[in-house]
Amino acid sequence: MAFEGLADRLQSTIKKITGKGKVSEQDVKEMTREVRLALLEADVNFKVVKDLINRIKERAVGQEVMESLTPGQQVIKVVKEELTDLMGGEQSKIAVSDRPPTVIMMVGLQGAGKTTTTGKLANLLRKKYNRSPLLVACDVYRPAAIKQLETLGEQLDMPVFSLGTEVSPIDIAKQAIDKAKNEHHDYVIIDTAGRLHVDTDLMDELQQIKSTVVPDEIFLVVDSMTGQDAVNVAESFNEQLDISGVVLTKLDGDTRGGAALSIKAVTGKPIKFAGMGEKLDQLEAFHPERMASRILGMGDVLSLIEKAQTSVNEKQAKELEEKMRTMSFTFDDFLEQMGQVRKMGPLDELISMLPGANKMKGLKNAQIDEKQIVHVEAIIQSMTKKERQDPSLMNASRKKRIAKGSGTNVSQVNRLLKQFDDMKKMMKQMTNMQKGKKGKGMKF
Ligand code: GDP
Repeated sequence: MAFEGLADRLQSTIKKITGKGKVSEQDVKEMTREVRLALLEADVNFKVVKDLINRIKERAVGQEVMESLTPGQQVIKVVKEELTDLMGGEQSKIAVSDRPPTVIMMVGLQGAGKTTTTGKLANLLRKKYNRSPLLVACDVYRPAAIKQLETLGEQLDMPVFSLGTEVSPIDIAKQAIDKAKNEHHDYVIIDTAGRLHVDTDLMDELQQIKSTVVPDEIFLVVDSMTGQDAVNVAESFNEQLDISGVVLTKLDGDTRGGAALSIKAVTGKPIKFAGMGEKLDQLEAFHPERMASRILGMGDVLSLIEKAQTSVNEKQAKELEEKMRTMSFTFDDFLEQMGQVRKMGPLDELISMLPGANKMKGLKNAQIDEKQIVHVEAIIQSMTKKERQDPSLMNASRKKRIAKGSGTNVSQVNRLLKQFDDMKKMMKQMTNMQKGKKGKGMKF
């Protein structure tokens, strides 16, 4: 999962302070020292860390914490808010031009994931926002790059505009926009050339394309596995092109990844999307608050729900969230969700979004077992309506009946009941945490 090492360390640090009914300055000092080390070890830029720690310290020994009834949890709240701010605060939206097409220029070094992200972004725009993008191949130096985009276009069943390698990228971009206007594409996504390093020729060309097509967005695609280099690259591109946002790729990798957290602080430009895998549907809108929550082990139920509900409307997603919050989530809801599970993506990715998931070692690298899903579905289907609403009804003889009806055995039924119960407990912990309740709210 993204930022796994950092998450592990931060979670064990904050665990120590969470339940405290009293927090001394010494406690805060120790905690911030550990947070500082965790961030540095994760490769977050040292200046950024220093500022962040100072802000946390100042707030953690301030009134909002010391005078609260739950100082331990208030400190964590402060850490979460500061981490959220560090990554950009509010989630930033993608531009929509009032005179279509909206033009997005993708820039970045070779190998960062630019072409792949161009395809992913087009896919997301169509799937989530019902848009009709035109992809444009402007990397005239590498025929393979043009071919790669065309292949992505075929996979997505989306048009790709290319004029081969003999026409200048500036002309290609210009003609692509005319074509998009004629054919009523509301987005144009331009895949530009990359180099192994930032160089003047490349920047000149990108600047020319920029002044010709006047893009609504310039997204810099950055490989989060490249550590501090990612930050330097972001700085140079931003100086030369005044980018509008960053796409972090390869956040699914198991690198330290912390450098990426510095990008917003260093460039002032928001991270708009995160690449979470090689597949075309593995691009997520970047929500700083949700990411902070994931890093601190508080889970990311909202993203999880969104994933589950790509084909369902917002109202249903909200209802589900409400059910999770109020603990009225039943086996019926569970069953309904099961149908969506297969569409949602790898199980380990989903699990990483659950509160406290980092600590559930057994769940890491879990393999999704199709047979087991079928069993679970069968077990729930063998329950009566009442049982699904109220699992406590299920006594020994009912369990036997359910096992028989579903072609499983009682221990499988028990296991499912236990898992469901654990899941509810986890949700409860998270809800308590959000409410800032005192006591054993957050356990890791
Ligand atoms: P470009 O040179 O910047 O256009 O980079 P490509 O789009 O060709 O990507 C380079 C490599 O990174 C390819 O093998 C992609 O499959 C891979 N890649 C891109 N984005 C991601 C991501 O989010 N996660 C992972 N694991 N791989 C990615």
